[in-house]
Order: sequence, then structure tokens, then C-alpha cells
Amino acid sequence: MTATIDSLKRPLKDLRVSITDRCNLRCQYCLPEELLGPGFAFSPREEVLTYEEINRIVDAFLALGIRKVRITGGEPLLRRDVSDLVRLLRKTGPELDLAITTNGLKLDEHLQSLREAGLDRLNVSLDAIDPQIGRKIAGRPLDTEKIWAAVIRGQAMGFRVKLNTVIKKGVNDCQVLPLVERCRKDGIELRFIEYMDVGTSNGWDLQEVVTAKEIQERIGLHYALSPQALDSGGETARRYRYDDGQGVVGFINSISQPFCQGCNRARISATGDLHTCLFANSGHPLKHWLREEKLDTKALADRIGKVWGGRSDRYSEVRTSRASASSSRTEMWQIGG
Ligand code: SAM
Ligand code: SF4
Repeated sequence: MTATIDSLKRPLKDLRVSITDRCNLRCQYCLPEELLGPGFAFSPREEVLTYEEINRIVDAFLALGIRKVRITGGEPLLRRDVSDLVRLLRKTGPELDLAITTNGLKLDEHLQSLREAGLDRLNVSLDAIDPQIGRKIAGRPLDTEKIWAAVIRGQAMGFRVKLNTVIKKGVNDCQVLPLVERCRKDGIELRFIEYMDVGTSNGWDLQEVVTAKEIQERIGLHYALSPQALDSGGETARRYRYDDGQGVVGFINSISQPFCQGCNRARISATGDLHTCLFANSGHPLKHWLREEKLDTKALADRIGKVWGGRSDRYSEVRTSRASASSSRTEMWQIGG
């Protein structure tokens, strides 16, 4: 199949679909509690895409050449019967690489049904082993051992599992080594994601970013690391192998070394907007095309293809030369990371 290419010659390969904007945590860097003052409201149910609508959208994206779909949120496992969606998508795209990104709080109870429905991969976000530090960064009590037990059980069930960690200076930097050691011991690939200026409500400040380089140096004091070759498939993590053979650790250097050049992903918000960049301040009204214009799958694919064809976003590469906090940008809990 010929790839769908944007104006900077980047192919469309990867789709992230947010299925809810609700969440059971209040991570400081994403959906801080302070945000939920008077007037705050999550999207009403009728504004959120149904599983059937998501499936039709994925079908259209398949015609444009995508290979991966990641289900995200908000917290996707708060939405009822997520395995029904996985089952639909698996039928629509038997060859699709299907993943979910979750905070893991409700993972254990869903593992079996997700596996049976055909999910391939789990990306679990966990920013601390110590539950007190976990509570501090997640804004709610965090049973880190329960999450860890689900991670290990998921791995034993055959899921490909990765752990995602965001480090915020002065909050959870003391957890770098405990997370590294736990992942090494249990054979889980850990990826550190630099704290990003997504949205406008997390009060992002460059001073609070701990760069991948700093984390890598900190790990290097205890465990020697050697870089792995970058794969060609638009992988955003720079991966390093522990020289003692105890696995791999990755770094997503979105702030210190932006990777817009290789960005091949489209994103859909829970309310059905198509975003061609994580840092976009608005999207394209996919839900309107489906519900009001009643486009069929072919027409939908043509419309999406045109949007991708005109794509020129490279926010991360130009952020330093722009006002970093533009007044309206879509939030991470709306678009899904
Ligand atoms: N609730 C799920 C979870 O936490 O995994 C899925 C949605 S969450 C928005 C997806 C990912 O985005 C998580 O790994 C989270 O750590 C990451 N994230 C959220 N806000 C971020 C920020 N400001 N900078 C970097 N990563 C962020
Ligand atoms: Fe919720 Fe995930 Fe955002 Fe944390 S990062 S508040 S778990 S959506």
C-alpha cells in the first residue's frame, strides 16, 4: 500500500484514539486538581465518540496505511467494556498492532478480557514505586504495588509491556533508581518521557523538566548503558541496553531533542476531533463529518487523507521561537499523549 504523506514527506502510520476525557487520577503534569474548580466539566456522554464510530474511523485510517492503534484517554479503563472496542478493532484490522495506555489502577480486572479480545500491548504509566511519592505526583492515593502486580501478570499473559514514567523536578526525581531497579529485576522496558508543555493548565515550567540526559547520567552512575540503533519505524524513544544484559531503558526526549521530523502519528480526541500534532490548539471535526455529513468510510478516508496531506506541524522543533504558552491548546487528558 502506498503511504499517505504529509507536506514534509512524513507518512501516516500510527493512530492514537482517546476514548474518554475522564480520569481517576489528577497527575500534576496532566490534570492537576487545581484545574477542577467551579465551571470545570468533563465532556457529556453524547459528545464522546461511540465504539462503532471509533471503529469506522479506524477503518478509514487503515485505508490510509496505518499499522498501529493505541487506545488512550483520560483513563481508558474507566470506559465501560473496553474489550468490546478492542474486539471490534481486531476484526476490522486483523494485522493491526493494538495497544492501550493506562495508569494501571483498574488494569488487573481487565487483563483477561483485553487479552481475549486481541489486544497486543500494554503501556502502563507509573511515576513512582514509593506510594507516598506516587500520591504526590498522581494527586490521588496510588497503590503502586497493585499496579505493579498487574504489570507482571500482564507480561506473563503474553502482552508486550512497557512502563512510561514522567519525572518532575523536586517531586519524583528520587524515584528514578527505584523504577530502574524494579524494571530490571522483572524484565520490563522502562521509558522516561520528558515533562512536556502540552495544554496550558499544568503550569509547565522548563525549570521543572528533568532531561533525558540527566536521567541517563544518573542511571549511568550505577549501571553502564550502551545506545541501541534507532529503528526506522518512527520509534520516538532512544533506547539503551544495560551492559550487564539486564534489559533496555528508553528515553523520549520530546523537550531536549524534539523528533517532529519522524512524527507519523495522528490523534483523535474523545470528542472526535482529529489532531495532527500533540501541541495543536484545534482539531478537524471528524465527528461532524461522521454524524452530520454522514460520510461513508471511503469519503472519510479521502477527507482525512487531505488533512494529512496538508500537515506541516513541527511545534516541538519551533517551540523555543514561539510563545510557549499560547492561550488555548488541547490538554493531554483530552487528546491522550
Ligand atoms: N491515563 C492514561 C495514562 O496515564 O497512561 C492514558 C492517558 S495519559 C494522558 C498518556 C500518557 O501521557 C501518560 O504516560 C502520561 O504520563 C503522559 N503525560 C501526561 N501529561 C504529560 C506531560 N505534560 N508531559 C509528558 N507526558 C505526559
Ligand atoms: Fe489521568 Fe493519565 Fe492524565 Fe494522569 S496522565 S491525569 S492518569 S490521563
